[in-house]
Amino acid sequence: MTVSKFIMTPELAETREKLCGIPGHLAFKQSLVEQFDGSWTLSTCPACRWQALYNTPKDRDEHLRAVKEVAEERLNQDLIATGITPRFRKCSLSSYVTGDDKAKQRALSICRKYAEGFEGHLEAGRALMLMGEIGTGKTHLACAILQCIVRNHGFSGLIVTAESITQAVTDSFRNNSGPTKTDLINELASVDLLVIDEVGVHSVRAGKDFTPSLLHEVIDRRYQLIKPTILVSNQKPDDLHNFIGPRAADRLRENEGLLAPFTWKSARSGGLA
Ligand SMILES: [Zn+2]
Repeated sequence: MTVSKFIMTPELAETREKLCGIPGHLAFKQSLVEQFDGSWTLSTCPACRWQALYNTPKDRDEHLRAVKEVAEERLNQDLIATGITPRFRKCSLSSYVTGDDKAKQRALSICRKYAEGFEGHLEAGRALMLMGEIGTGKTHLACAILQCIVRNHGFSGLIVTAESITQAVTDSFRNNSGPTKTDLINELASVDLLVIDEVGVHSVRAGKDFTPSLLHEVIDRRYQLIKPTILVSNQKPDDLHNFIGPRAADRLRENEGLLAPFTWKSARSGGLA
C-alpha cells in the first residue's frame, strides 16, 4: 500500500448517505469537498455522472457539464496535492508586486521564465534556487510557479519545508505502521516539480543533525531521475553546501541551474513572505 505523507487529497466534510431519486441509482456517500480556493462543493451521484459521461450524446449539455466537472475536480485535486497552504493560495506571478525595484523585477522575470518554460526545464532536470533573506517573497514566487505549471500545463508539483522532511523521517523511525524513509523519499521524487522551502532556516547541529544528508538524498534522487527541484533558502549561495551537502549543491548548479537572488531587505510588515 502506498502511504502519502506529503501529497494531500481534498478534505471531505458532512458525509451522509444520499439517494439522487432516479430509479435504479443506489444510495451514495455525499460529502462536501474542500476546494483549493477555500470553498466547498457537494459531490454528485456516481451513477448520474457515469450516465452523463458515457451514455449521453456528446453534444448534450448534460454530457458537456459532466466533462467540465470532471476536469475541475481533477484540477482541484492536483492543486491541493501541491501542499500550498491557504496563506499562499492567492499568490500568483501577476500578484507579485515589484514596483520600480529592478532587483525584484529581475527575480520575478527569472521565476516567470522558469514557469513558462517548464517543459524544457523538466526535460533537462534543471533546478532553480531562490535565495535571499526571510520576508523577501521567495515562497510567494515558488508557490506561483507551482500553481502555474499545474494549472496551465497539467504537471504535478509539491512544496515541502526542509523541516517537514526531517520530521517525517524522524516519525518514520518511531512508527512501524507509517511510511518508511524509502517511501518518503520515493514520494518526494514522484512529482514533476518539487519545491524545498526554508532550507537553512534552522541552524545545523554538527554531527547530530541529519537534515543535510537527508536533503542531499532527496536532491540526488531527483537528479538521478532528471527531475527539477526548486530550492528556497535564506542562506547565501556559497554557504548552501553546509545545509544540503557539497554534492547536492553542485547537482543544483549543473546543467545551467538557475539562481534568482532576492537581495533586498525583508518586507514582512508589507505582507510578503
Ligand atoms: Zn443518480
